[in-house]
Amino acid sequence: MKRADTAALKAAMLVAADAIIAAEPELTRIDKVIGDGDHGIGMKTGFTAIRRQLEKTDYSTPYDLFHACGLCLVKSMGGSSGVLFGTLLIGGLEAIRNKEILDGGDMCSFLSGGIDAVVRRGKAKAGYKTMVDALLPAKEDMQKALKETNDIDRILSAGEAGALRGVEETKAMLPRLGRSKGFRESALGWPDPGAVSVSVLLGGLKKGLSE
Ligand code: ADP
Ligand code: MG
Repeated sequence: MKRADTAALKAAMLVAADAIIAAEPELTRIDKVIGDGDHGIGMKTGFTAIRRQLEKTDYSTPYDLFHACGLCLVKSMGGSSGVLFGTLLIGGLEAIRNKEILDGGDMCSFLSGGIDAVVRRGKAKAGYKTMVDALLPAKEDMQKALKETNDIDRILSAGEAGALRGVEETKAMLPRLGRSKGFRESALGWPDPGAVSVSVLLGGLKKGLSE
């Protein structure tokens, strides 16, 4: 799909929500080793709330759709990741205000704005073993891909690939922020759960727009 309207983006968010919900056991397993074990349940709660919200409401613009999804996460999840994943969906909204259809460049601007907002809000630097270590390579790869294509599914595909590269890199990182810093050495070899969630979210959106 080259461009996506609100209905296509809503369908993609539903596919992404199912992907996050299906990843709950894996996210829980990882967060039990390197965090306090609640990341999978938190994400499942947040994306179940998104599912329910989208099933009962239609939105007239991508802005309204992503805004509602971000608010669902902030309200239902709690914990640092609720605010941070909510910020990812809300922080870049200005880039798509008044747009009815998004192309690859719009999606890249929207997500890049959200990524910058997560960095400002969470104050994690690259290498701290957080979701930021998946978000920054995702942004880099989307911006690179934009030089070759303006198709929204190919931009999301590049974002997913960047996030997955970031997830691999987190395996060798020692945690510095948040609760998992108490588990420093035992976290080696394991990816950061928030980074894994980023790759699942971007992969789900891409899958939803490619179907
Ligand atoms: P909590 O840390 O409140 O238990 P979760 O377990 O749901 O929240 O989420 C943990 C994930 O949140 C981590 O794996 C990390 O990716 C992300 N995270 C936590 N704090 C920060 C932060 N300050 N900046 C960026 N990401 C963070
Ligand atoms: Mg946790």
